Amino acid sequence: TISLSEVLESCVDARQAVARSRNVNLTYDPPTDEISVVADREGLRTVFDNLINNALNYTADQGAVSVRGFCHDGKAIVEVEDNGIGIPQEHQSRIFERFYRVDKARSRGMGGTGLGLAIVKHCMGVFGGEIEVESETGRGTLIRILLPVSEQSAQLIETVKGST
Ligand code: ATP
Ligand code: MG
Repeated sequence: TISLSEVLESCVDARQAVARSRNVNLTYDPPTDEISVVADREGLRTVFDNLINNALNYTADQGAVSVRGFCHDGKAIVEVEDNGIGIPQEHQSRIFERFYRVDKARSRGMGGTGLGLAIVKHCMGVFGGEIEVESETGRGTLIRILLPVSEQSAQLIETVKGST
């Protein structure tokens, strides 16, 4: 099993230089409890890197991207939220398809191929997780992933809750 906060923090750190160079405020809120997830490190990195890169790519300079990790209902949750261009409602269910890009003109020059989220979705299938999107055009996007926590980690969190 893998420490969620460790992988998440290093993915955020790796993008700080890029964020700063564009005056994008990239923040990270770690989980309060240590959460171990059943996943492989490389796969998790791929997922977080893609989500953070998208949030940065589709958000204008001076924008904000926030990354949070927490535990809810026995699941490990990671949210990557931006206040960028957003995804129109009618496209939201299709962005996980291979090569699908919302607006080729809009995203031209951003160098994407439209594979990132297809890979993310594939990884989430392998991990037994889920992915959700909430977005509004011109306001921003929230991508949420839900992952199973390891047995041990789940027990620990229960114990901590029980003692408070
Ligand atoms: P790449 O393969 O380099 O990741 P990509 O970013 O175009 O290319 P995806 O990551 O799969 O491909 O995303 C698919 C499309 O979904 C993007 O082209 C973009 O239109 C839209 N999208 C994804 N994330 C966001 C976001 N945070 N804000 C706005 N649009 C987004
Ligand atoms: Mg992408």
